[in-house]
Amino acid sequence: NLTWVLRKRPVGDLQQGDLELVESALTQLEDGQVRAKTIYLSLDPTNRIWMSDVDAYLPPVGIGDAMRGGGLSVITESRFDGLEPGDIVNTGLAGWAIYNTLPGASLAKLPKLPGVPLTAFMGPLGATGMTAYFGLMDIAKPKAGETVVVSAAAGAVGSMVGQIAKIQGCRVVGIAGGADKCRWLTETAGFDAAIDYKNEDVGKALDKHCPNGIDINFENVGGKIMDEVIARLNDFSRMPLCGLISTYNATDPVPGPYNFSNLLMRRTLVKGFIVIDYFPRFPEGMQQMAQWFMEGKLKYETDIVDGFEKAPASLSRLFEGKNLGKLVVQVSPE
Ligand code: NDP
Repeated sequence: NLTWVLRKRPVGDLQQGDLELVESALTQLEDGQVRAKTIYLSLDPTNRIWMSDVDAYLPPVGIGDAMRGGGLSVITESRFDGLEPGDIVNTGLAGWAIYNTLPGASLAKLPKLPGVPLTAFMGPLGATGMTAYFGLMDIAKPKAGETVVVSAAAGAVGSMVGQIAKIQGCRVVGIAGGADKCRWLTETAGFDAAIDYKNEDVGKALDKHCPNGIDINFENVGGKIMDEVIARLNDFSRMPLCGLISTYNATDPVPGPYNFSNLLMRRTLVKGFIVIDYFPRFPEGMQQMAQWFMEGKLKYETDIVDGFEKAPASLSRLFEGKNLGKLVVQVSPE
């Protein structure tokens, strides 16, 4: 077996040598266990959080331990009633390994949805889709006619947030880096407007595209972009705080938003959330997202890197904005 093991806590950007590829023999399965061979390994911004010794929502990955990650796997051996070789499962939180040995009871078999590609279960019908769905629907509770702004809009979570908000009848403005991503947002994903934060003045562009202010800020990025959005929030606005990717590689303390006081003046609801807390409600989210998906209402992209050995180096794609849609590593064929 091959496993990526954390050797050093990264300082700033992940460096070569922080993780090491280690070979080991497969052990015998115990009762209740299954062997799952990774097909798609999910690369997520939060992988970087888990490598740091910070007080986060999960303990950090230990030095010398397998890097934590999720994805889709095929069962190759089973000593658990209810899963058999050939079944495809979502591994939730497993290791960055070709084979994971896991308790069968912890795994969810993918539902059979005819015509739905496997990659959809990494995006709209996977954890990032659930993040978008519950963050928007449960926390922000969008109403038709409201204006929704989402940052990292062309990414896995952001692209779903905008499309769900459109289905709810909202005006949707996405913020993303580069003309190609912005074109994808308006021409393919149906956003009303897109702001290229790398080439435009975000504040001025928000004034132009949100003439009635902002009712919902789905926050994925933090920093200056968040500040510009906060400054334009409406009374009783909502702000699901999903991610702060611009800060995950920071080596110095991160300044708070300068327009913080506007959250008071506008009586904004700000709620941090982590999708794993919604796990018991995943069937509900999956059912709704699957229905919209099969109705052709959710466009998605998968950014596939080929080869398990490229996993650590590919994580930087998320921080450099090189991915369009959900970033995954293809570890073995479907
Ligand atoms: P994405 O597919 O959105 O990839 C990350 C994107 O972030 C990049 O493509 C890049 O897009 C943008 N980005 C990176 N660095 C910066 C920066 N300094 N300033 C502005 N934009 C930046 O990843 P995900 O959809 O998986 O995650 C999006 C956010 O949601 C992250 O903050 C993540 O931590 C969070 N998240 C939270 C979850 C939860 O449970 N709370 C669950 C899943 C994700 P661009 O080219 O536009 O810059």
